[in-house]
Amino acid sequence: MLTIHSLWKSFGDNVVLRGVDLEVSQHEVVSLIGASGSGKSTLLRCVNLLETPDDGTIHLDGEEITDPRADVDAVRKRFGTVFQAFNLFPHMTVMDNITLAPRQVHRVGRAQAEQEAHDLLRRFGLADKAGAYPDRLSGGQQQRVAIIRALATKPRVMLLDEVTSALDPMLVVEVLAIIRELKESGMTMILTTHEMSFCRDISDTVCFLDGGVLLEKGPPEKIFTEPEHERTRAFLSSVL
Ligand code: ATP
Ligand code: MG
Repeated sequence: MLTIHSLWKSFGDNVVLRGVDLEVSQHEVVSLIGASGSGKSTLLRCVNLLETPDDGTIHLDGEEITDPRADVDAVRKRFGTVFQAFNLFPHMTVMDNITLAPRQVHRVGRAQAEQEAHDLLRRFGLADKAGAYPDRLSGGQQQRVAIIRALATKPRVMLLDEVTSALDPMLVVEVLAIIRELKESGMTMILTTHEMSFCRDISDTVCFLDGGVLLEKGPPEKIFTEPEHERTRAFLSSVL
């Protein structure tokens, strides 16, 4: 469904991605792990074209989205992206945060957008927060709204970058529960995380990035118990 081929990206002299190859199937959950600065966020940002790769290609559903003629806005609509900082619009209610993109970008009518938003809020236990402003929500609730907002556009793939790392441990649990539910519903996801036990639990495939090289990938049982590379082993022993 998503195919990344030989992706290179530099910022000035800093070569951040060095020929990354990665294939993601429909319904697959792929985690990117690796040290700070190894290129995890940059890889996600290249996938939804927030960064322009220097070389290599990305195909989504058979279409080359890195083609310079591709419609960047149309491509981005097919991804739901959530970052570490919640980035909700502070002056809008939860409902307006969630329905903004469906209404303005996807041209869904207000009644339908609000109905779908209500359904999502109910599904994720936030039905009573539709009229609240973000500053009235806990960090965990804000992050759940941010995930719902991304889901409201019915993305093909969700991209989740450290969605729990700004949260207190107590609040992490409720956000992880949402991601688990999304996996059960068949959502295709690429995520970065420092939560190794969660990563092990939820991923179909774990990718270890080392200095912009996708050094090793495989099912979590393999990566976490018998990694091929010494560098993977060293990284895991530093974080586990
Ligand atoms: P972390 O675990 O800390 O989130 P990461 O693996 O996500 O790290 P990236 O954010 O992808 O790492 O950063 C990889 C490298 O690219 C770093 O050296 C970073 O300084 C650099 N970098 C990332 N974004 C930019 C940018 N917009 N301009 C210049 N350098 C950047
Ligand atoms: Mg990052």
